[in-house]
Amino acid sequence: MTTRRSFIRIIPITALATFAAQSAFAADVDPKDPQAAALGYVTDATKADKAKFPKYAAGQLCSNCQLYQGKPGEASGPCALFGVKSVAAKGWCSAYVKKA
Ligand code: SF4
Repeated sequence: MTTRRSFIRIIPITALATFAAQSAFAADVDPKDPQAAALGYVTDATKADKAKFPKYAAGQLCSNCQLYQGKPGEASGPCALFGVKSVAAKGWCSAYVKKA
């Protein structure tokens, strides 16, 4: 049976575990990850492989992509394609869709 006192001890442990799990999932997308590599993801849009991905155009950035969920001004943020992992605001991949 869980007493009130033991329950109170569990709360900080649970909060810490949740924070640690979120931190682990919030890792940046590695351009070498198979999914990222297949999409031609780069952390610097100017380094996009223009020969392999001719649809790339100057000015296309994760930060102005429809799938980007980061806050304006932050260096990185989540992308709908990569779950909770963050992509670079100045990055790019071939799934780019201009933000409406
Ligand atoms: Fe960046 Fe958009 Fe590609 Fe996500 S889908 S990595 S936000 S360009």
